[in-house]
Amino acid sequence: MTEPRALPAPGALPRERYGLFLAVRRGAPLLVAAVALSASAFHLEGRGWWMLACVAGLAVAWPTFLAGPAYLRSRPAIMRWDGLWAVALRPLARWFGQEDAWILSFCAWHNHRVREAFRDRKARRALILLPHCIQLARCKAGILDDLQACYDCGKCAVGDYMNAAITGRWEGRITNRSHKAYREAREYRPDLIVAVSCTDRLLKGLVKLPETPSYVIPLTLSHGMCVDTDFSVPHLMAAMEALVQPASPPAKVQPLVREA
Ligand code: SF4
Repeated sequence: MTEPRALPAPGALPRERYGLFLAVRRGAPLLVAAVALSASAFHLEGRGWWMLACVAGLAVAWPTFLAGPAYLRSRPAIMRWDGLWAVALRPLARWFGQEDAWILSFCAWHNHRVREAFRDRKARRALILLPHCIQLARCKAGILDDLQACYDCGKCAVGDYMNAAITGRWEGRITNRSHKAYREAREYRPDLIVAVSCTDRLLKGLVKLPETPSYVIPLTLSHGMCVDTDFSVPHLMAAMEALVQPASPPAKVQPLVREA
C-alpha cells in the first residue's frame, strides 16, 4: 500500500430536510382530526362517527411526536407504519417529479430522530454498510474480501473511507447485494447502522431493518446508477463522531519479564 493520504476533516452533520415527509405524515392525520372535530360540532346526528374519526386521526399522528428513548422503543412499529406512507405515496411523488425528494425527506426525518435519540447516549456497537459501486469500476483491488487491498490511489471514496475506518477502528462492510448487507446487519446485531446507498435502497433498507436505528447517507450518482458512485466521507466521519462512542484504544500488552 502507498503512503496514506491526509484524511478530510469530519465537518458538521448537515441539517436534515424532512419538512415534506413530516408535513404529509403528521399534517394529513391532524387535518383529518381537525375536520372531524369541527364536523362533530355541526352534524349532531353523526357526532359519534366524527369523534371516532377525530380520535383515529390523532392516533395516526401520535407516533410522529415520539422522540429519544420512546422513539427507539417503538421504532419497529414506527418504521413499518412510516414505511407504508413512504411507499404508498411514492408513485404520487414520482408523478409530481419529486420521487427522490420524497424518499430523501423520509430518510431525513428518521435521521433527525436517530440523531435526537443518540444525542446523550451514543451507540457502542455501530456497523457501517457501504455499496460496492463506490469502488471505481475499472479498479481491480479486491476490497470486497479485504478493504485494505485498496491502494489508496485517491480515485474513489474507498481510499478515504479505508483510512478513516482504520483510524477510527470502525466496523464496516462493503457488499455488492442488498440482501448480503441485511444479512451482515442481522448477524452483527449493531445498536446503530450507518448506511450509504442510493435513495431506492435506503428506503428499502429502512423498511427491511426496522428494528435497528439507522442513520443514512445518500450516494451521489454522477455517472448513473450503480457505476462509480460517490459519497461524502466527511459526512460519514461526522455521523460517526456525533452518534458513536469512539473505539477504545487497543490494550497495551506488557511484555512478560522472565524471572532469573
Ligand atoms: S481508492 Fe478506489 S480506485 Fe483507488 S485503489 Fe482504492 S478502490 Fe481502487
